Amino acid sequence: KEELNIIQGALELRTKTVEDVLTPLNDCFMLASDAILDFYTMSDVMQSGYTRIPVFENERSNIVDILFVKDLAFVDPDDCTPLKTITQFYKHPLHCVFNDTKLDAVLEQFKKGKSHLAIVQRVNNEGEGDPFYEVMGIVTLEDVIEEIIKSE
Ligand code: ATP
Ligand code: ATP
Repeated sequence: KEELNIIQGALELRTKTVEDVLTPLNDCFMLASDAILDFYTMSDVMQSGYTRIPVFENERSNIVDILFVKDLAFVDPDDCTPLKTITQFYKHPLHCVFNDTKLDAVLEQFKKGKSHLAIVQRVNNEGEGDPFYEVMGIVTLEDVIEEIIKSE
């Protein structure tokens, strides 16, 4: 039974897309790029429980960096370090995928690359103006694994 579910899940990686499993932008715990790493902000980050925190500039859909919680190891909250100091030091590359990327393809990317989190974007061509890229949310290795081992 369990084995069948896992095989089923693995087979579905070829048909399901990142859009099916992403964490929507509105549910993402993120930081504004002008944040100050004071006691309150750092407690917020720790309490969120997340390892990777997207950093946005001006609006949440404009993700410009990723903060890893381990980047904070040498940050003293009393110094009130600007978040920018840290993100500019580590400069973790952003990994973007399109909403229609199949799960097997993104799993392959996660296996090859260093990052286990990708930003999901789509082409928005609704409305009058020119089409533009729109961030929908984030997807992590965990979301793909979850799809394989979920039991229904
Ligand atoms: P790790 O397990 O590597 O320590 P994590 O617990 O921070 O990382 P994942 O295990 O990669 O996160 O993902 C768990 C779930 O949380 C997934 O559904 C993922 O999309 C979601 N997630 C990851 N980071 C965030 C974030 N910053 N805000 C909201 N949801 C997130
Ligand atoms: P993250 O994905 O959040 O950056 P990480 O890189 O520390 O976490 P994992 O992604 O969980 O670690 O694991 C990557 C590889 O490193 C795995 O093969 C794991 O077994 C190995 N690994 C993790 N922690 C250690 C450790 N303390 N010593 C040796 N190997 C480790």
